Amino acid sequence: MKITRVLAYRVELPLHETTYAWSGGKSVQVFDSTIIRVETDDGLAGHGEVCPLGPFYLPAYAEGVRAGLRELAPHVIGADPRQLVKLNRTMDAALKGHPYVKSGIDIACWDILGQATGLPVCELLGGRYGDDVHLYRAISQQSPEEMADKVAGYRGEGYRRFQLKVGGDPDVDIARIRAVADRLSPGDRLVADANTGWVQHEAIRVANAVRDIDVYIEQPCLTYEECVAVRRQIPHPFVLDESIDDIGVLLRATAERAMDVVNLKISKLGGLTKSRQARDLCVTTGIAMTLEDSWGGDIATAAIAHLAHSTPTEFLFTTTDFNSYVTVSTADGAPQRVNGRMAASSEPGLGIHPKMDVLGKPIVDVH
Ligand code: MG
Repeated sequence: MKITRVLAYRVELPLHETTYAWSGGKSVQVFDSTIIRVETDDGLAGHGEVCPLGPFYLPAYAEGVRAGLRELAPHVIGADPRQLVKLNRTMDAALKGHPYVKSGIDIACWDILGQATGLPVCELLGGRYGDDVHLYRAISQQSPEEMADKVAGYRGEGYRRFQLKVGGDPDVDIARIRAVADRLSPGDRLVADANTGWVQHEAIRVANAVRDIDVYIEQPCLTYEECVAVRRQIPHPFVLDESIDDIGVLLRATAERAMDVVNLKISKLGGLTKSRQARDLCVTTGIAMTLEDSWGGDIATAAIAHLAHSTPTEFLFTTTDFNSYVTVSTADGAPQRVNGRMAASSEPGLGIHPKMDVLGKPIVDVH
């Protein structure tokens, strides 16, 4: 089987909440997502999605996905989409870095492998654990009272895990964590994600002020070294995210026990192939994971669900359903949240069927 054509479509994904805000005054109102379609000589087609969290979160931006695909796609024409490790080596040889550009092609080829073998992607990624997986809800940065009300509302929809966007004024962040913690019940989990927004001393101040609260602290500061310094001085379970963007730093962080949980995003690492490698390493070394992506709609959520559902339950800290945050559906068959949980499709591949009328005309077409 050979890849004959790579197409990309641009889709705007508005938010039900109209805006999503996090540390440093950053926010997004309408997500700019790219859906990738890989076609083959035997008629199978697979799909992937890459949706950066704006241009100022990770070193990735929406137009960069399309520009990168125009550069990269000619190199995968003629490659066998089922030979995923080999395909990733081909992509890495053709384009240095830019993992998020490669992610959409890699996801689409997993979709093709699943269709070719008649197996859901989660089974190909290692096996399906349990009936479904639990989701977290990200709580956009607002006042402490507004965030507490949001948590109460989403709790009513079935969520039991909440990730607060903090990383602002430390005194307000302390109030945010306290206001939300007051609204939770035993069994709920709370994460305070600063998204690199605190300076080291601020992070330690916040953590000390909430010593009595059962809360995880995620990526308090910009650099790995600052984060580790904070971790060594605070009592809370600790999550790294933005600092862990390839296998090399994951190995270092594992050896230095720099975190209890790691947040792995599919496009941050470069696709499902590399996310599986990182995931399996974490299982072997005892690091639990939040498995997700930067953002996305139905197709990104389907890929996330397959990765999460193929992860041993005790190592899956949490995952998320971005398609429920946005107002536009781009595919049938994507996971739908039920009582704060979702399941990967049991159909072959990702189990999704893109809505071509929503995707419109391709803006990248390489064949
Ligand atoms: Mg995070």
